[in-house]
Amino acid sequence: MKIIQIHLQKNQLIKILALALAFGCAVGWGMHKIQRASQATGALLAARSGTPALLLDAGHGGEDGGAVGVDGTIEKEINLPVAQKLEIYLRALGYQTEMTRREDKAIYDPSAKTLREKKVSDIHNRFALLEQMGENALFISIHQNHFTGEKYHGTQVFYSKNNPLSQALAKAVQAQAVAQLQPENTRQAKPSGTEIYLLWHAQIPAVLVECGFISNYAETQKLKQVDYQNKMAFSIACGVLDYTSAE
Ligand SMILES: [Zn+2]
Repeated sequence: MKIIQIHLQKNQLIKILALALAFGCAVGWGMHKIQRASQATGALLAARSGTPALLLDAGHGGEDGGAVGVDGTIEKEINLPVAQKLEIYLRALGYQTEMTRREDKAIYDPSAKTLREKKVSDIHNRFALLEQMGENALFISIHQNHFTGEKYHGTQVFYSKNNPLSQALAKAVQAQAVAQLQPENTRQAKPSGTEIYLLWHAQIPAVLVECGFISNYAETQKLKQVDYQNKMAFSIACGVLDYTSAE
C-alpha cells in the first residue's frame, strides 16, 4: 500500500508516537482532554529538549521476591514488567531512562553472602545508581502493596520528603492512576518515612508507586494481566508528563 511506502526517519516516528501518547494521556484524563493535550505536548517538547532523565526501579528481584500475594503471586513478578512497560512509554515520550535492573535478579555485590548482606548491598547499589543520575533526574520505584486481610486495594504513591518536588510528582502519578484506572480510589500521595530507604535518602524528586495490593484477590488478578500492567505503566507515564508540564 502506498501509505506505508512513506519513508519516515526513526526520530520522526518516535515523535509521532510520542505525540499520540501525549494525546492519549490527555484522553485518559477525561474532561480536560483538549487542554491536557496541548499542555502535554508542551511538556513533551520540554522533555525532548533533554530534561529530566528518569531512573526506574523494579522493586526486589532474584531471591528477594518481595511480598507474597493472597494467591501465591510474588511481588517481583509484577514489579519488573510494569517498570519495563513504563520505560517503553517514557522513552516514546522523549525521556531518557535508566533502570536499576532489567532481569529477575537482585543487584548485590558478589561479596554479600547472607540474605541480610545481600539485601543491604542491593539497596545500597540501587541508591548508588540513583546518585549517579545527577541533579536533573527523577526516581520512580515500582512495588506492590500487602496488608493483613483482603480489605485494602488501590494504587498508593509515596514520596521522599527531601526534595519539595517529590510531592508534586507523587500527586501527579496518584491522580493519573486514579483517573485512568480507579475512580473509586480516594488515597492521597503520602510522604515516606525511614522504612523506604531509597526515598528517605534520595535528594532528587523520588517516588515509590505501590501499584496495588497483592493481598487483595481481585486486584491481584488485575495486576497479573499484561493489559492492566500496560495501563498502570501508561498512567504513571502520564503522571510524569503532567508533572513536567507543571514545572
Ligand atoms: Zn516491595
